[in-house]
Amino acid sequence: MRAVLQVAVDVQMKRFVVALGTVVVQDVVGTGNDASGAAGAKAAGDDFVVELSPLGFFNSHGRYLTESATNPTMERYGPPMPEILEIEYYRQLAEGALDRSIKSVAIDRYAGRSIAPGMNPKDVLPGLSFTAARRRGKLLLLDTEGPVFGMRFGMTGGLVLDGVAGIDKLEYGPGTYEDKWIRAGVYFEDGGALLFHDPRRFGRVSLNPDEEALGPDAFSITLKEFRAALGARGEGPALKARLLDQTKIAGIGNLLADEILWRARLSPLRGSASLTESEIKRLHRVQHAVLIQLFERGGSHTGDHMDERHPGGRCSKDGHALHRATVGGRTTWWCPKHQV
Ligand SMILES: [Zn+2]
Repeated sequence: MRAVLQVAVDVQMKRFVVALGTVVVQDVVGTGNDASGAAGAKAAGDDFVVELSPLGFFNSHGRYLTESATNPTMERYGPPMPEILEIEYYRQLAEGALDRSIKSVAIDRYAGRSIAPGMNPKDVLPGLSFTAARRRGKLLLLDTEGPVFGMRFGMTGGLVLDGVAGIDKLEYGPGTYEDKWIRAGVYFEDGGALLFHDPRRFGRVSLNPDEEALGPDAFSITLKEFRAALGARGEGPALKARLLDQTKIAGIGNLLADEILWRARLSPLRGSASLTESEIKRLHRVQHAVLIQLFERGGSHTGDHMDERHPGGRCSKDGHALHRATVGGRTTWWCPKHQV
C-alpha cells in the first residue's frame, strides 16, 4: 500500500469563474500563516503516511488524486504561492463541498497543531455538512450548522476536491501532488473527499478560528478602513510591512504587495502613516485593481512587475535598475526612480 501512496499523481485544474468586480468576499479571518523563515524546511513525506494509514486515512477508494491538465498561465508567469487570490480560488472550489454529508475526517500532527482541546474536527464534523464557503484574507472558512472549519495554507498549501485541484502548482511546492503530502481530509458519505495538500507543512486546520483577529479583507476593504489600517500617528511602520500585516489588512502577501506598490508609485520604505490623502486614495484604488486583474490572470504571481524580481532586474516602466531589500521580513523589489 505504501508504494502505491507514494506514486506521484497529477490532478485536474479547475477553471474558475471570474466575476469582475464582484468577487464574493464574505467576512472571515485569522492571522494568515505566511510561514516566513521557512526556507530551510523540507517536505516530511513518510511521517504522514506512517501516522495516518492505520486510521484509514486512505480508504478503499485508494487514491483521491486523479488525471492531469496543464495550466497555461503557469508557463508564462511561473508558479504562485497562496495569497488572497489563491485562497479565493480554493473558496470557489470548496463550494462544491457544500451540502454533502461528512462521513469522516483525518488530520495529521502538522495540520492539526492548532487544534484546541475538545475541538478536534475528527470528532465534531462527522454527521454534519458544510453550509457555506467563506474567506477572510488568506483564511478559508467552511461553515456547518455547528462549528466553523478553518483552513490556513501557509506557503505550499493546496486544496483538492474530488480529484480536482484549486491550483496545479505553487512556488515553494514540488510542482506535483502526491498522496503522501495530504495533511488532512474530509471524506463524504458519497465517496468524494476534500483534501488539504501541503508538502512543506506550514498550513493548518482548526475549528472556530479567530476571524476577528484579522483586519478587513483586502478585496472589500473600504477607503475609510484602508486609511485607518495605514495608521495616523507619526511615520508609521514601513508601508510594505503594514500591507503585509494581516491584522490590519487581510490577504496581501509578498508578491501582491510589491506589485501594488510598484503600480501605485510608492516606495515600500515609506512610513505607512506618512501618505497624503491623494496617495492613500491612489493606493486603495490600485490595490483593488491589482486584485481583480491578477485574479483574472490566474494568481498573485501574474503581476507586471514579477518578471523583473531578480538580480539585474529593471523596471519595466522606466528601465531603472530595481532595488532589493528585506522589508517587513520579506524580500522586496522596487524601482527607486518612480516609487517614492
Ligand atoms: Zn520605475
